[in-house]
Amino acid sequence: MKEGKYIWMDGKFVKWHDAKIHVLTHALHYGGSVYEGMRIYPVKEGRKTVATVFRLDDHLDRFLNSMKGIEMKPKYSKKQLRDIVTKLVKKNGIKDGYIRPIAFYGYERLGIYWGGLPVSVSIAALPWGAYLPNEMKMKISKWRRLSPDSVKIEAKVGAYYVNSNYATESVKGLADEALLLDQNGNLAEASCANIFFVKGKTLYTPKKGSILPGLTRDSLIELAKSFGLKVVEKVIKPSEIFGFDEAFTTGTATEVTAVTLIDGRKIGNGKMGDVTAVLRDGFSDLVRGLNPVMNKKYKNWFHKIY
Ligand code: PMP
Repeated sequence: MKEGKYIWMDGKFVKWHDAKIHVLTHALHYGGSVYEGMRIYPVKEGRKTVATVFRLDDHLDRFLNSMKGIEMKPKYSKKQLRDIVTKLVKKNGIKDGYIRPIAFYGYERLGIYWGGLPVSVSIAALPWGAYLPNEMKMKISKWRRLSPDSVKIEAKVGAYYVNSNYATESVKGLADEALLLDQNGNLAEASCANIFFVKGKTLYTPKKGSILPGLTRDSLIELAKSFGLKVVEKVIKPSEIFGFDEAFTTGTATEVTAVTLIDGRKIGNGKMGDVTAVLRDGFSDLVRGLNPVMNKKYKNWFHKIY
């Protein structure tokens, strides 16, 4: 991991290595935390390159909603969080990077219940490039995605990532990424990304209910529509996978990544498909301000910093 210079912690900018917490923090023992991940892109504006956070307001909305999901009273408003991110990115001098806000229950007593515990909020910003290869192999994990009967699935709660870890561990050495089924045995998502399939000029993606509704998923749907593609959100059974021509995943960290093989079987011809390639490049252009139509239509997706 590349380090940033400063981390914002409960009202102060502290040096990267001074961002410490107590060992009895609730989040460490019982997972009482919610977090976000967003990207800073260098966006070309004439001769200048402007550090721009992609979909900052939407990530902050999800952050605040995730807090509600764990009974956490927000200590900072969206406007305050937006201002902190702006200052932090500038202070760290980052143009191409990643931002990690986290809100967590802290240290007071040892009981499991989080009600009334002190809340801490911290935001880190660091330089960060590509995460996974452009193409990857997936394997269906033996572990099912957490059920919406067990947790509030649309909140981004730290503890849920135990499920992502089990899934990742179960495919280690066999594939690059895990594909998780939901509690009914239908496709849900990857360990920390959403999944799409392509058939002709139509995209198919698992509907909301058992997935984290990704913001990249949402951006990709809008981008695909602008390219004249049709998008269908529906229940997808594992038996349908090999009837599709192409597959790819979407996520802030991994952006758009082609899936060439699932459970050892080729998707289409086993190479990145044409539609995937167009969307992958299209997404890369969009976030860098190189898609004039979408950049104008979705002006509020771009939070320019410096
Ligand atoms: N699903 C899960 C479980 C995730 O953790 C993520 C990453 N936040 C995603 C999907 C993709 O969401 P986004 O596009 O908002 O990064």
